[in-house]
Amino acid sequence: MATKTTGYTESTEKISDNVYRAKESTNKGKSGKESLKKIFEELLQDTYNAEKQLTKALPELAKAVDNDELQEAYENHLKETEKQVQRLEKIFDRLKIQKEGKPCKAMEGLIKESQEIIKEHEHGASKDAALIIASQKVEHYEIAAYGSLVELADVLGLDNVADVLERTLEEEKNADELLSDIAQDVNDEAYGQASEVEQYANGIS
Ligand code: ZN
Ligand code: FE
Ligand code: FE
Ligand code: FE
Repeated sequence: MATKTTGYTESTEKISDNVYRAKESTNKGKSGKESLKKIFEELLQDTYNAEKQLTKALPELAKAVDNDELQEAYENHLKETEKQVQRLEKIFDRLKIQKEGKPCKAMEGLIKESQEIIKEHEHGASKDAALIIASQKVEHYEIAAYGSLVELADVLGLDNVADVLERTLEEEKNADELLSDIAQDVNDEAYGQASEVEQYANGIS
C-alpha cells in the first residue's frame, strides 16, 4: 500500500490511493479494467490540455467584457482554473502517468467561438451576453468531463482521486450558475439598449 504523501502541500488534497499504472498505448487486447484505465488516463490528459488552454483564454475574456461582475467572475475563475491545473498535475504524479496527451480539439473550438465574438461584436452588453453563452458551453464541457472522471475514478477504486476531481466539478458547476445569474442582468441591459434603437428606428420610419 503506497501512502507516501510527500510533496502534497494541501492536506485536504492528499492522494493516497494505490499506485495506478497504465501500461500500454492502445485499447486492443486489453481487459475491461485496463481499457477503462486507458480511457480514464486519456480523459485526464484531454481535460488537462483543455484547462491549460483556458488559463490563456480567460484573461482575454476578462479584458473584452463591459460588465464588472462578469469581469470579476472571469478573473476569479482564472484563479480557480490555475488551481485545477495543479490538482490534475498532482493526480498525474501520483498515478505515474504522462501529463501530455492529444490537444483537446473541442476546447480549441469553443475558445475560437469566444474569440470570434470578441472580434465581431461591439463592446457592450450584447457582446457580454454572447460571451456568457460561449462561456457556459465551456463550463458544460468541463462539467461533462469532470463528472465522467469522478465516475471512472470511483469505478477504478481511486477514491481519493475521485474526491479531488469532485472538488473541481463543484467549482465548474458554481461557475456555470454564476454565469446564469450574471446573464439575467446582462440580457436585460442588452435588451434595453436594443429596444431603444428599435424605438428610435420606429419613430423615424
Ligand atoms: Zn464599456
Ligand atoms: Fe476548469
Ligand atoms: Fe476534449
Ligand atoms: Fe471552468
